[in-house]
Amino acid sequence: MADRIESASRKLLGRLRDSLAEEGAGQERLDRITHIIADQMGTEVCSIYLFRDADTLELCATEGLNPEAVHQTRMRIGEGLVGRVAKSSAPINTPDAPSAKGFRFMPETGEEIFSSFLGVPIQRLGETQGVLVVQSKEARSYSEDEVYALEVVAMVLAEMTELGAFLGEGAALSPRHTQQELFRGACAQEGAAEGRVYLHEPRVVITNPIADDPHVELKRLHEAMLVLRGSVDDMLSSTALGPDKDQQKVLEAYRMFANSRGWVRRMEEDIALGLSAEAAVEKEQSATRARMEQVPDPYLRERLHDLDDLSNRLLRLLTGQGEDTGAEMPNNPILVARNIGPGELLDYGKKLKGIVLEEGSVGSHAAIVARAWAIPLVINAKRILTEALNGDQILVDGDQGVVHLRPEDTVVTAFRDKIAMQTQAQKRYASIRDKPAQTKCGRTISLHMNAGLMADLPSLIGSGAEGVGLFRTELQFLIRTKVPRRSELARIYGSVMDAAHGKRVVFRTLDIGSDKVLPYMKPQDEPNPALGWRAIRVGLDKKGVMRMQLQALIRGAAGRPLSVMFPFIAQFEEYRSAHRCLMEELEREDKLGHVLPETVEIGAMLETPSLAFAPRQFFEMTDFISIGGNDLKQFFFAADRENERVRRRYDTLNVSYLTFLEQIVNRCADIGTPLSFCGEDAGRPVEALCFAAMGLDTLSMRPASIGPVKSLLRRSDLKEAKAVIDEARASGAQSVRPAVIDWLTGRS
Ligand code: PEP
Ligand code: MG
Repeated sequence: MADRIESASRKLLGRLRDSLAEEGAGQERLDRITHIIADQMGTEVCSIYLFRDADTLELCATEGLNPEAVHQTRMRIGEGLVGRVAKSSAPINTPDAPSAKGFRFMPETGEEIFSSFLGVPIQRLGETQGVLVVQSKEARSYSEDEVYALEVVAMVLAEMTELGAFLGEGAALSPRHTQQELFRGACAQEGAAEGRVYLHEPRVVITNPIADDPHVELKRLHEAMLVLRGSVDDMLSSTALGPDKDQQKVLEAYRMFANSRGWVRRMEEDIALGLSAEAAVEKEQSATRARMEQVPDPYLRERLHDLDDLSNRLLRLLTGQGEDTGAEMPNNPILVARNIGPGELLDYGKKLKGIVLEEGSVGSHAAIVARAWAIPLVINAKRILTEALNGDQILVDGDQGVVHLRPEDTVVTAFRDKIAMQTQAQKRYASIRDKPAQTKCGRTISLHMNAGLMADLPSLIGSGAEGVGLFRTELQFLIRTKVPRRSELARIYGSVMDAAHGKRVVFRTLDIGSDKVLPYMKPQDEPNPALGWRAIRVGLDKKGVMRMQLQALIRGAAGRPLSVMFPFIAQFEEYRSAHRCLMEELEREDKLGHVLPETVEIGAMLETPSLAFAPRQFFEMTDFISIGGNDLKQFFFAADRENERVRRRYDTLNVSYLTFLEQIVNRCADIGTPLSFCGEDAGRPVEALCFAAMGLDTLSMRPASIGPVKSLLRRSDLKEAKAVIDEARASGAQSVRPAVIDWLTGRS
């Protein structure tokens, strides 16, 4: 029986392939296909429904229903049996369709005379493109094998749809990936960019879903599986497995999937039915993705992700399409990715004109890198990966969090006008570049820039910053494949100081952990990395690397003034130990005959609320303190800076947070410890204005923010701003933002 089904299915696929090879317009091909399927499966009806837009399915071809209904009959997702198949991405098989749940009577199709119904989703990599249906008058239930065979056919249809087989004259389908699409995401870095799509990860293209010889395909699958298992074993043995049981379990689950008989068996069955090896992998991958959507248990979902990942590797092995897309990077590239880590982003460098992510978060370090480079970044642009193709024209509106893919001319014109206006604003900022950020009430705020790479240094001149208030040294570690050598680091630090031409550069020691994972560092697999082993905690536990970095800083300074700042200090003792470490290194370097820096300033980042309440001696011992608002805010509100769902709940201008900042300002002022703010909020003009009004005199921000911040400060009276803030605080408001905005716009 199984053999019979197999040969019937192969015959059906063979006929489909021959039909697809024939000349003809898209509609003609679809019509022929429905005829072949109905004939081969012995059913009176075969129909193909495809999505017209995200919510609407349209009858695009039929054998057996009223031909007049083609392109007329439409239904919404979830509506009728066809709509239900599309919604659930699962087959519906019933001998008595009219009494099945959700049945919708469509008189125009003449459907009421058909009793049995089998509908399967036409899907590709978890994206449902439509529904393939067979129906008969006889009240029969289709066998499991028949359902399976129809799924295989649907998979081929999905592949062919993707390849554009149904386009052309009188097309049933408007060409995919050719229409204008709009995506609404969230803004992670302002600015507008026009360019061409460059996909971070390749979309594997399958050009031969139907195979001639199942034996050849089985052999190809088995060979690829062998290579895959070998690579997973290598991965397991090269990952230094510590005593961490959880991590071991995860990796072993991964190995278990790679050796799973069930997975291989399903693919072997697909091949026996006539699919090529890669089409079989993709069919099972689609099924996994559909399951992934349904599974509520996060642990299980993770495991399904593992399987998805393995399928990707297998597909690449079979198609020879590597990690590298092979696609040339276009001019004005706009990177489109599901997500990206800071290291990967740094690899691309500043040549990117914009970035669009399906996931991502504003607080991530990749977002910080994009901001440092002033590259417009839109996150949470759902579905962009299924729509965008390499080379597509794309407009990124970072201010609104909107992306236009393959835009129409009118949109392009409006967008270019916007860019022109931004250029005008840039000119205005350039005109005040060499002027101080002096407010109307006569206070001068010192504006510095954040940096992390040599490539950032030219902005020191261009932006008019007074110095580098935060140099994130970990970026140098993130862009490498192994720990940099001390001599190399010393050279880099020296060059940074050279490029700063005597302006102050505050070097923050290595801040790794949390989302900044070094590719060559043993993964920690902590339950909550943001609260885990990171920054100074790593530095103090692994003194070797910290000492090496401190030596490199001393040598890089080569007799010039040196400023060092320790990140993520949560208690006085951590600062004291780090301070001691630097003192010892200075002594050691002196003994070795190296020139010591002319002066050494040592500071701490205040990133945990605990430090605001540290003993007085801490404030006395520090030469300066800088508030790391990105971390401080996440710990103050207990809201993960990377979790888009909670991040926005708490406004930076929330009265509790502002009052807390004010307390820090007052403690530092009492003791005379210089204080600055170097988190991302310092670069937002309204926030910067409020911080200055609360008494902060030094702000450090990405270079592109200096112009807008300075421009607003120069137009503002901080005493008035403080009065507005105080009044809002006294009124019991949750945030002072509405009052400040009203005041700024002259509404109050
Ligand atoms: C901060 O936390 O505000 C900060 C400047 O450090 P990072 O963003 O690198 O964690
Ligand atoms: Mg931080």
